[in-house]
Amino acid sequence: MIRTRFAPSPTGFLHVGGARTALFSWAYARRHGGRFILRVEDTDLVRSTPEAVQAILDGMQWLGLAHDEGPFYQTQRMPRYREVIAEMLAAGTAYHCYMQPDELDRLRAEQREQGRKPRYDGRWRPQPGKRLPEPPAGIEPVVRFRNPVDGVVAWDDLVKGRIEVANSELDDLVIARADGSPTYNFCVVVDDRDMGITHVIRGDDHVNNTPRQINILQALGAPVPLYAHLSMILGDDGQKLSKRHGAVSVMQYDDAGYLPEAVLNYLARLGWSHGDDEIFSMQQFCEWFDLDHITPSAAQFNSEKLNWLNAQHLRRCDAGRLAALVRPRLAARGVVVGETPSLAAIIELHKERVSNLNELADVAEVFYIDLQPRSELLARHLTPEALPLLDDFAARLAEVPWQAAAIAALIKECVARHGVKMPKLAMPVRVLLTGLEQTPSVDALMALFPRTTALERLARARCVASSAPRSV
Ligand code: GLU
Repeated sequence: MIRTRFAPSPTGFLHVGGARTALFSWAYARRHGGRFILRVEDTDLVRSTPEAVQAILDGMQWLGLAHDEGPFYQTQRMPRYREVIAEMLAAGTAYHCYMQPDELDRLRAEQREQGRKPRYDGRWRPQPGKRLPEPPAGIEPVVRFRNPVDGVVAWDDLVKGRIEVANSELDDLVIARADGSPTYNFCVVVDDRDMGITHVIRGDDHVNNTPRQINILQALGAPVPLYAHLSMILGDDGQKLSKRHGAVSVMQYDDAGYLPEAVLNYLARLGWSHGDDEIFSMQQFCEWFDLDHITPSAAQFNSEKLNWLNAQHLRRCDAGRLAALVRPRLAARGVVVGETPSLAAIIELHKERVSNLNELADVAEVFYIDLQPRSELLARHLTPEALPLLDDFAARLAEVPWQAAAIAALIKECVARHGVKMPKLAMPVRVLLTGLEQTPSVDALMALFPRTTALERLARARCVASSAPRSV
């Protein structure tokens, strides 16, 4: 049984890099009928806040990355960590160290002076035949892991290939502080073991932790999971993706009008590929996803590509669902969505012309507000030649069956009779109906409105013309 986990530290938001890690871990479990576990690594009490935890849960929910187990919170597992520390002390795989911070600082300074790598010198590490100093009175010890001294610790990283680190490079890690609180790498190990994690998929900023974690797992007699360290994501400009690049949190993509499936589709392609497939659903992704096609090189974020993918997903999306997503955006602008035209019908007509939900809200809004087209647009299109044409069109419009085809036929007939080109009529109609110069075809647009509303909006041409200063 495959068991993966996403283990964010809640110190900010769910950002793009974290979301990709979560996606890959989730998809790998889905692909193999396994379990996906959410674990909140909140032991850094200074930086972890309830708001940040909530932001992660919200982000995961918005993306639809549902966990099968959890969320587990490390702060709620303290008794368990203490228990394992006690076991390790009893087994001799960990030991008390009474060295004080200032002693350690002095040691490190000396080592640096001598051109050596600063490291703990093992003075409290029990060895056969070694006499340990007397524990100083009144000092609480830290607990250190008894790291192997010889050999190498190695793993076949599923993304980066074989990685080997000599044990002589690793000193005896502090696993519990003097106040008894367990340290980061130790908690990760206990959790990965207790949660039966088989595949650790995470950012490659954790590669340096892996040898330490493997050694502790082995000391506990626990199976070592497989590791897949994902390369970092670079921004559009080739620099490490950061706040400077705009979206910090995946929820900002929600605000900006992206569909979660488009963001996921985009994230899936950041460092992973399936032939030339660009646009796919999460169901397809879960069928295809494997760890063999993850590139070890850094992936580069490309906002234009994301926008394009969002447009592709928008046009594939059912208008009813889009209406439900656009409605709160209109409400937030104070726009009351009326019965006619139906929001879904407006969206059906426009969804191939926009690249995000906010643009969809922009075009939908004009149907429901008391529209005041901008005066420069009116001036540009309500020319003296256009007015009789519009009058004639409006008069006949009162008679035709209210359907796009009949309206289209009437438009053709009018422009033919007046001997003008189509835009002479279509442009003022667009502007009067929507305040916009670019719209779908005028007949389809017009048929969305109730006939009376369309006629009222066209009648504005007369008002504007009669109130305009007379040109000399
Ligand atoms: N909590 C770590 C982070 O947010 C991840 C730890 C792990 O995946 O092992 O970077």
